[in-house]
Amino acid sequence: MRIVPLGVGDAFSALRYSTCLSLHAGDPETMVLVDCPHPIQKMMREAQIASNVPIDPARVAAVILTHLHADHCSGLEGLGYYVFFYLKRKLPLYIHPEVLAELWHGHLAAGMTHLMPTPGAPTVTMKLEDYFEVHLLDENTKVACGPFSIECRKTIHHIPTTALRITAEGRTLGHSADTSFDEGLIDWLGESNLVIHETNYGVHTPYEKLAALPAALREKMRLIHYPDDFDLAKSNIEPLHEGRVYTV
Ligand SMILES: [Zn+2]
Repeated sequence: MRIVPLGVGDAFSALRYSTCLSLHAGDPETMVLVDCPHPIQKMMREAQIASNVPIDPARVAAVILTHLHADHCSGLEGLGYYVFFYLKRKLPLYIHPEVLAELWHGHLAAGMTHLMPTPGAPTVTMKLEDYFEVHLLDENTKVACGPFSIECRKTIHHIPTTALRITAEGRTLGHSADTSFDEGLIDWLGESNLVIHETNYGVHTPYEKLAALPAALREKMRLIHYPDDFDLAKSNIEPLHEGRVYTV
C-alpha cells in the first residue's frame, strides 16, 4: 500500500494544505482519499506532479471521511459535484453513522439541495443519496472498500471523529484523525505497520506526549496536522510531507 499526503497542515496553515491522504493499493490500483478538504482538485494535481503517482478526481474510488471540521471535509461539495456532473455517477463515501448524521443538514445541504436543470427553470430538490453512495463504517466490524478493509474507532474531539485502521495487501495503516492524546487509541493504532498521528495545540495531541513514546513505536509513526511553527528538524518522529510517496 502506498500513501501520498495531499495535505499535512492544520486548519490555520498559511504554508500547507490541510490534512488529507491519498491511498493506493491493489492491481489494478485503487485510489481512495482519507478526508477531502478544499481545494482538493489542486491538491491532487500538485501531489501527482510531485509524486509521479496517478492522482486525479476520476480515479477517486471513494472518500473515507473522519469528521466534519472544514479542514477535513470542505472539498466534499466540489468533488461530489464534479463526480455528479462530469463523471455522471455518485461518489462513494465511507463514514461513521454519527459523522453522517450531520453531513447533509449540518454541512452540504445549503449548497447542494437545489439544482437548476436549465437557466431559469424550476429547481429540482436533491438529497445526499443523489450525489453520494454512502457506506457506513462500523466500530465492531471491518468494512470492505475495494482492496482496502477499514476499521474505525472514535477519538476524543469536539465533534464525532473516527480514527482508522486501513488494511490492504496484508499491510495496515493506522491514522489517528483529529484527537487528544489517548493512550488507548495509540495502543489500537500501534498494531498497524505504519501509524500516522496528528499533533497540534489545544485539544489536539501535544508533540511532547508523542515524543515520549517508546522508540519502536515512534520509528513507525509519522506526524500530520502539525502547526506552521512546528520545528520539523527537531522532531524525533518523522513528519509527513505533501507529495511524497510513503510505503506501508
Ligand atoms: Zn477536527
